[in-house]
Amino acid sequence: MKKDRRSFIKNSAVGLLGSSLVLPDQIYGKDKILLPKEKVNAPLTPLEVSKDRIIRNDVGLRPYRAEGFVLKKEIEQGKTIIHDYGHGGGGISLSWGTAQKAVDLVEAPKNTTVAVIGCGVIGLSTAILLQKHGYQVIIYTKEMPPQTTSNVAGGFYAAAQAYDSNKITQSFLTQFNESSQISHRIFQDLVGERYGVSWIKNYFLDGDFAFWGGKNLFPGLKIHTDQKLFDFPKVQEVYSLVIQTPKYLQALLDDFHLAGGTIRIQDFQSKEALFQLDENVIMNCTGLGSRQLFNDQKLIPSKGQLHVLLPQKEINYSYVYNGGKDTFYMFPREDGIILGGTAQDGVWSLEPDEKEMNRIFKQHQMIADYLKRS
Ligand SMILES: Cc1cc2nc3c(=O)[nH]c(=O)nc-3n(C[C@H](O)[C@H](O)[C@H](O)COP(=O)(O)OP(=O)(O)OC[C@H]3O[C@@H](n4cnc5c(N)ncnc54)[C@H](O)[C@@H]3O)c2cc1C
Repeated sequence: MKKDRRSFIKNSAVGLLGSSLVLPDQIYGKDKILLPKEKVNAPLTPLEVSKDRIIRNDVGLRPYRAEGFVLKKEIEQGKTIIHDYGHGGGGISLSWGTAQKAVDLVEAPKNTTVAVIGCGVIGLSTAILLQKHGYQVIIYTKEMPPQTTSNVAGGFYAAAQAYDSNKITQSFLTQFNESSQISHRIFQDLVGERYGVSWIKNYFLDGDFAFWGGKNLFPGLKIHTDQKLFDFPKVQEVYSLVIQTPKYLQALLDDFHLAGGTIRIQDFQSKEALFQLDENVIMNCTGLGSRQLFNDQKLIPSKGQLHVLLPQKEINYSYVYNGGKDTFYMFPREDGIILGGTAQDGVWSLEPDEKEMNRIFKQHQMIADYLKRS
């Protein structure tokens, strides 16, 4: 039994990171891209776009800050509070990177018990990295997976809708790019069945994709201007990572428990309530909860909805059209085909918006019709 547990830990995120995780300056700019062997050939199979194929509609509130995520340390009433929240539409993609940077700010001796507040992707990644650095960890949280925003996320690797480029500083952008690089490198080691992380051939249809975090994170770039595949004048073909979030978060939870982590359910109503904790180092990974907890009025909900269709095995490619209010994307996961592309800033409702749903279906229908004709 002991041996099984040991070999399992060796293959878990804590174990894998033990051998592969290096510090940001060592990792930055270093590629270890493992491209899939499978080739995607044209013609691409058209998606079966029909509302009859919907298996669920998921709605979530992205923790959005136009100025970008908050990553900083504060000391108050003898407690060190390290903030890591406000990742907008890119929290899955950025998770390991900002978690690593937050953990770098911890100065306590090894074996100290650290409190992590929040059990979404940011809290879990932070907790696992703390364990890997030799700390004991207790996660305190209001909700556990699957009841988190992180579980709703489609999980396409691209830190989109994570900031407003008119509102950020150069030093934020550096942090953002470094976090993206660290994260991507760690996700590469988690590709496979256990974590639900995989590569996919993706098409950026708007021809001008921003390659958030660095061009090397979207390898295999080919530019199509012949309109053979899609009815768009310039299409960028790349490989991208997809993280099947429900499966992935469950695997992280399992890893956290296996490495001796503890979870306590607690809903903190105020910052003062945090000061009552026994632990002196507190990692704030509460996502949108930080708006109330730390009175951060710049943090707002950006409502997003996904329509999940029955799995369609022949769909082995994805596409994204970035066009502001006209944005739409599709990518297949084992548990269904993800259709998305909405962002309603300042909206707190968790009800799907029918108008947006109709828009998305119309756009995907247009793509499928073109593929059928070509
Ligand atoms: C529709 C949609 C699609 C998305 N697609 C993608 C994508 O493809 N790729 C990508 O990278 N990102 C995507 N995102 C963004 C991503 O989901 C978020 O950036 C990410 O989940 C934020 O993680 P988090 O851990 O900060 O927040 P959460 O997952 O919300 O976790 C916060 C945790 O803190 C706890 N908490 C909050 N307040 C308190 C409190 N007062 N006391 C105790 N506990 C508290 C909560 O219970 C929860 O456990 C998408 C989001 C949406 C809505």
